[in-house]
Amino acid sequence: MKPLLEIKNLSKSFRLTSKAPGGKSVSLKAVDDISFSIFPGETLGLVGESGCGKSTTGKLVLRLIEADSGSVTFDDKEIGKLSSAQLRAERRNLQMIFQDPYSSLNPRMRVRQILAEPLQLHGLDKNGRTLQEELSHLLETVGLDASHLDRYPHQFSGGQRQRIGIARALAVKPKLIVADEPVSALDVSIQAQVINLMQDIQQQFGLTYLFIAHDLAVIEHICDRVAVMYLGRIVEIAPAEKIYGSTQHPYTEALLAAVPRPDPKRERTHQPLQGEVPSPVNPPSGCHFHPRCPYAQNICRTQSPELSEKAPKHLAACHFSHKIASQSRTDQTTSQ
Ligand code: SF4
Repeated sequence: MKPLLEIKNLSKSFRLTSKAPGGKSVSLKAVDDISFSIFPGETLGLVGESGCGKSTTGKLVLRLIEADSGSVTFDDKEIGKLSSAQLRAERRNLQMIFQDPYSSLNPRMRVRQILAEPLQLHGLDKNGRTLQEELSHLLETVGLDASHLDRYPHQFSGGQRQRIGIARALAVKPKLIVADEPVSALDVSIQAQVINLMQDIQQQFGLTYLFIAHDLAVIEHICDRVAVMYLGRIVEIAPAEKIYGSTQHPYTEALLAAVPRPDPKRERTHQPLQGEVPSPVNPPSGCHFHPRCPYAQNICRTQSPELSEKAPKHLAACHFSHKIASQSRTDQTTSQ
């Protein structure tokens, strides 16, 4: 099967200039030579701590910002080579759900206008009764109803606002949705409802998702595959069951250890992540993860590991990943 979205060697840096008099300008490499694909109907989770470059990747996919190098190919079209008019037309197929349901909806617009706006932008607007029916149907699809059309965003709870954000993305019948931390601003009790809704509409409309999250627990049940990012690079990518069942990278292992489990024996084997994320302005030499990695050896400080296949369909960037992951899992099994 051909991928719907293919990212090749994508990189993006930002220039930061100190505001102090005579302050220097430095380069921050937010996304560093990443490649991955997403197949039609698939959900790929993109996970990592704040500042790892996952949201920048989402923006690059939609070309909300321009890449320095590399390519994003969507549905056989290279997004970076499209003219402004072509890009505007293609955005109908590429939509985004934002993290913050409070600031992503215009507070001065009624829900009716919020949902009709993308239809107008793409020349899909209808008049009168047909539009009313379409907007009502959209709201019903996301668990709201027609009586909500004339309300303003502030009249809704956080979960309901995110449902409106989802309805807005759905309005133009996209093929791919980039969901940038769509539940992290919501109460835990609401997160599951919104994720269930996203799964339902994925089946109903045949959607493909790039699902960005900082927490492996949030995406466990929605993703087919998971890509883990650290300081702008992908350090592991594999089918979800391999990430959660037999990770090949110490960073993923640490992220998994931070996921609360109702199993006290598992708790004792935790190896919580040590230290802060290093500055992407001046990342560590060799393997960027080495200052925090409990398994680091000399080679890790000088040589950057390639992302390579450790098992079928399971890629990781670690000099020793096989050995370390299996040893760690053996420890866990023994203690259980
Ligand atoms: Fe740890 Fe070395 Fe593997 Fe990096 S390459 S994750 S520092 S063991």
